[in-house]
Amino acid sequence: MSQSTNIPIYQSTNLQFSQSSLQDFVDCPRRFQLKYLRELAWPAIEAEPVLEHENLMQLGSRFHQLVHQHLSGVPAERLTQTIDHPDLSRWWHNYLDHAPDLEGWQTRSEIALSAPLGKRRLVAKYDVLAIESGKQALIIDWKTSRKKTPRKWLQERLQTSVYSYLLVQAGSHLNGGKAIQPEQVEMTYWFPEVPSQPERFSYNTKQYSSDHERLSSLAEQIIALSNEEQGQFRLTSDERRCRFCVYRSLCARGEKAGDLNDMEDIFAQEEDVVFELDFEQIGEVEY
Ligand code: SF4
Repeated sequence: MSQSTNIPIYQSTNLQFSQSSLQDFVDCPRRFQLKYLRELAWPAIEAEPVLEHENLMQLGSRFHQLVHQHLSGVPAERLTQTIDHPDLSRWWHNYLDHAPDLEGWQTRSEIALSAPLGKRRLVAKYDVLAIESGKQALIIDWKTSRKKTPRKWLQERLQTSVYSYLLVQAGSHLNGGKAIQPEQVEMTYWFPEVPSQPERFSYNTKQYSSDHERLSSLAEQIIALSNEEQGQFRLTSDERRCRFCVYRSLCARGEKAGDLNDMEDIFAQEEDVVFELDFEQIGEVEY
């Protein structure tokens, strides 16, 4: 498809960067342009079967909500009584029995941080930030997919970099006014479906510097392209990504949505060829 396709020319002037938007730019610049600059809602489904996909998204959102309420002080027994779905019940009990023990930590859930990145801001909403003042800072992200996301895939995703980097950049007010050092940061992905297999990523100064370079460079590239009259936000050359992208008909990359089960098999084979649907944005749902 040519870049001159008839789509609205409106470009958002309120652009902020997030791990999702930067990842989209890396995976497919065209997707970034359509989603964040043109803010183009496109009436297509992400994955088949539709009901199963929607159900999974709703369960994920509900799980995040339950944990948020629990960490905000609502007794577990009261929350347990509100659960009427067997999968959610299993996830919830896995959380109660196996989630990281945060006793003694200063814990905040669904908290947003932001810091300058080039001429814009970098923002992130964390499922959980737990601080042991002056000692350690723990980021927890609940991953509510049916199958565990492979470590290699998580390691390469910008979420792991952005969350740790931004906590160092903007988290001092959560640490008694003292800067958080990269070596104090750890990020844990925790899977309610497989509670015994969390994935932990420690952080360090070298990685922080490298993340700073990479994120700044991505921001610069995006701003430069956005300022060009005919900014060439190219379509991804890996057409397998298009199967799970809502813009596929607009880009003439197929009509039919990819199968949810195929995606999970792709994950299982540790192939880095797909978007993570919107599972990663479940935590960004407003309650
Ligand atoms: S359909 Fe493919 S080329 Fe088009 S925006 Fe989505 S991923 Fe990019």
